[in-house]
Amino acid sequence: MSVESLISQIQDYNPDVESELLERCYRFAQKAHEGQQRKSGEPYFTHCVKTAEALAELRLDTHTICAGLMHDVFEDTGVPHEEMIVRFGENITNLVEGVTKIGQYKFRGSNRQRQAETYRKLLLATAEDMRVILIKLADRLHNMETLNFLSVEKCQRIAKETLDIYAPIAHRLGIWRIMSRLEDLAFKYIFPIEYRDIANLLNEKLVEREGYCERMVTRIRAELEKQGIFADVHGRTKHIYSIYQKMQQKGTPFKEICDLVGLRILVKTDLDCYIALGALHHKWNYLPNRLRDWIGLPKKNGYQSLHTTIVDNGKPVEIQIRSYQMHKVAEDGIAAHWSYKEGVPTTKQGRSIFANYKQMLEDIKETQDGPHQFVESMKLELFQDEVYIFSPKGDLFALPAESTAIDFAYKIHTDIGHTCCGAEINGVVAPIRQKLQNGDRVEIRTQPDGKPNRMWLRYVKTANARSKIKHWFREKDRADALALGKKFLKAELHVSYLDVRDYLNSPKLLDIAKHLKLESVEELFVRIGNGNESATHVVNLLKPEVPKPEIVPEAAPQKATSTPAIQLENDIDLGLIRTMKCCNPIPGDEVIGYLTRGRGVSVHRTGCTRILDEPERLLFVKWTEKRNAENTEPPTDTYPVQILLECNDRPGMLGKITTVIAQYKVNIRCGTFQPSTVTSVDAKASDNLTLDVTGAEQLDEVMMAIRHLKGVQRVTRKI
Ligand code: MN
Repeated sequence: MSVESLISQIQDYNPDVESELLERCYRFAQKAHEGQQRKSGEPYFTHCVKTAEALAELRLDTHTICAGLMHDVFEDTGVPHEEMIVRFGENITNLVEGVTKIGQYKFRGSNRQRQAETYRKLLLATAEDMRVILIKLADRLHNMETLNFLSVEKCQRIAKETLDIYAPIAHRLGIWRIMSRLEDLAFKYIFPIEYRDIANLLNEKLVEREGYCERMVTRIRAELEKQGIFADVHGRTKHIYSIYQKMQQKGTPFKEICDLVGLRILVKTDLDCYIALGALHHKWNYLPNRLRDWIGLPKKNGYQSLHTTIVDNGKPVEIQIRSYQMHKVAEDGIAAHWSYKEGVPTTKQGRSIFANYKQMLEDIKETQDGPHQFVESMKLELFQDEVYIFSPKGDLFALPAESTAIDFAYKIHTDIGHTCCGAEINGVVAPIRQKLQNGDRVEIRTQPDGKPNRMWLRYVKTANARSKIKHWFREKDRADALALGKKFLKAELHVSYLDVRDYLNSPKLLDIAKHLKLESVEELFVRIGNGNESATHVVNLLKPEVPKPEIVPEAAPQKATSTPAIQLENDIDLGLIRTMKCCNPIPGDEVIGYLTRGRGVSVHRTGCTRILDEPERLLFVKWTEKRNAENTEPPTDTYPVQILLECNDRPGMLGKITTVIAQYKVNIRCGTFQPSTVTSVDAKASDNLTLDVTGAEQLDEVMMAIRHLKGVQRVTRKI
C-alpha cells in the first residue's frame, strides 16, 4: 500500500490528517528497513504498513498510525533515540519506545512465576498510554497472519502467547474485530485438528445455512416493517474459536451444534432495539433463559446489545439487536470512543471502559498471590462473565460471575468486608460464602468485632477481596508474633533474674536490634516471636556484666542443608513440614498448611476435605522455587501422581495415551488398564496411571494433551 492510499484511508474519517508528518514517517521506516526481509520473503516494510493499516481501520489518531509505521525501527535498526525525538517529536517516539519495550518481554520458558511477573509488567505498561497496546495488537495481528513461515515450535509459542495474553486484552478493551481474528489464528496452530473439524463442519453446511439465513432475513424484515422499523438484517457466522469454546463449556458433540448461524439486526435508536425485540417475541416463541439486555446494563468493556433466541420450526435462532452506534462499539471497543484529534478516549463511556481497565490493573497489582493464582485471577478478570447485584438502596454493582457475598462486602468497603458475618439475599438470610446470582439484592451484615477467616480465601472470586484478606492476615500474623516475642523476652528476663521494667523499655534494646540489622525494637520482637531469633541470645546481649559487642551473634538460625520444597509464608520456622498422603500435593499445587497438635505443619491441597474447619490453625504455605532465576533447566525431582482416564474402548487407545505421555518425557510408574465388559462401539474403558511429574504445571500440560486425544472422555487427578 502506498503512502497516498494510506493517507486517503485516514482522510475518510479524519480530514485534518497531518499528511506531511505521516509521509515522513512512512519514508523513514521504509528506509530503516531497506533490504530487510520477513520470513515470508516479503520486504519487511510490508509488515509496518499492515500494522498502520489496521490502526487506521480502528480510526485512530495520526500519531498512533505514525508510531505504527515505525514500531520496529528501534529493534531492527540502530536509530538513536535523540534523533527520533528531533525528527518526529516526543509523543511519537514515546509510543514507538513503549511498543519496543513490550516486545522485549518474553513469555517463553516454563517458569510460570517469571511469566506472571512479565505479564503483570506488560499490563501495567499499557496503563500509561493505551495507544501502545493498540499498536501492539495491530502488530501481533499481522504477525499471526504470517505465522506459517516460522518453525513449528515458534508458531506454537507465539500462538499460545496470543491466546493467553493478547486476545484477552483485546477482549477487555472490547475490540472484537481484532480479538476474534487473533483467537481464530492462534487456535489454528494450537489445536489444528479441532480447528479443521469445525472449519469443515462450517463449510459442509454453508449452502444450506445461507439459504436458511436468507429466508429468515426476509421474514424478520417483514415483521419489523409492520412495526414501522426499517432495519439492516443479516446473517453472521460465528468465529471458530467461539464455537469451540461453546462446545467445551457445554460438552456438546459436533453433530449437535445447531447454532452455527446467528442473525443481527441493526437499527437507528435504542428504543428501536426494544421495539424490534417486541416484534420478534410477538411473532415467534423465544427461550426466556437466553434473553439478555446489555443495553440497560452494558458490559465492562462497553458492549451493548439485546440478545434473544427465537424458536423457528423447533429450531433455535440466535439474534442480536443493536443500534449502529452500539455496533461500532461492539466491533472496535475502546477505539470507537477515540478522538482521532487528541489520541484519548473522549466519550463518557470510553472513559469508563478505560477506568475499568485501570481498576482491574490496580486490583491485580495488589494481589500478592503465587504465580498460578495470579495467572488464573488475571484470566478471570479479563474474561469474566459478570453478575449484577443490587445494594439495599438500589445501587448496582458488577461482580465476576460466581462471586460470593464476601466479594460483595469487600467491594462496598474494606471494613465491611473485614467485619462481615452474614448476608441477607433477597430478604432471606444466607451464609456469606453463598454465590450470588444476577439481580440479587444483597444486604451485608457485620459484627463490630468481626474479623476475616482464612477459609474465606476459598470462597472469594475477586482479586480485590483476596488481596484485602491476605493483607489483613499478614498484619495480624505480625502483631501476633510481636506480642509473642515480647512475652518470650519477658519470660527469659525473668529466669535470668533481671527486672523486666529495667530492660523491656531500655534503649539498649534498640542498640541490639540495630546490631542485628533490624530497624526497630518491634522488628526484634517479631523475629523472636517467629522463632528466628532466640530470646536467650537477646537477654545475654542485654546483661550488663557481659560486654559483648565483639561477640558476633550466631548469624541466621540454622537452615537445613537442602532447601525444603515448601516454606511457610514469611519464612516462619515452625518445625517439621510434611505433605499429606490424603491429597498428595505436588509443587505448583495451591496448598494450605495446618498446624497440628505437636506434629509440626501438615500441608494439604486447598480443596482437601481432610482439613478441619479450624481457621486459627491454618497457615499460608508456599512452594519454594528450587531453581534460581538464571537457571532455566527443567527441575529434575519428580513426584508420583495418580490420574484416572475414561475413554472409548477402541484398539490402540492405550498406545496413543502412552505416546502422548512419553512426548512430555514423563515416566509412567505403574498403571492398570480395565477394558469394559460390554462389547459395543461405545464401550468405555478406564485406566488408572501413576505418573512421575515435576509439578502441577507439567501435570496440567500432560492432562490437557491427553484430554485432546480423540476418544478420551475424562481425565482427572485422583485425590
Ligand atoms: Mn512488528
